[in-house]
Amino acid sequence: MQSNPEFKNLFAGPSAQFKLLKAICESIAKQGKELSDCHIEGLYNLFGEQLLLKSLNLVDKEAIEHITTPTGRTYFVVRRPKKTYTLYCTTPYCDCLQFQNNIRKNSSKLFCKHIISCNLALATGKCQMRTSTEYMSTDGIL
Ligand SMILES: [Zn+2]
Repeated sequence: MQSNPEFKNLFAGPSAQFKLLKAICESIAKQGKELSDCHIEGLYNLFGEQLLLKSLNLVDKEAIEHITTPTGRTYFVVRRPKKTYTLYCTTPYCDCLQFQNNIRKNSSKLFCKHIISCNLALATGKCQMRTSTEYMSTDGIL
């Protein structure tokens, strides 16, 4: 029997990690937007201590906005003192240096703290929810 590549992707590589991150976030949102030890353990196993702590720290700074456009498209904005990052909700992509370096090195650990913290902020209700009348400038690439 030939193995199903889609099935394989569930267990290996960045898309698997992203699916697991989404699954954990869904569980957090369902359980009163609170992070349980179980969630922390799952995130720790996925991303390691250092990246997880940085991500949680960024969530606490309440620097993350969830934007909905008039067409119903959603994206995240992370506002930091030196730079503002725009991230997609459904695709693990970020324009920060760490993420770009990870891509260049073809690392299996693709994620940066922005991707993780955006999803965690949304799940824990620490996102500022906004609607936008503007379309994001990179709208065309998806
Ligand atoms: Zn990033």
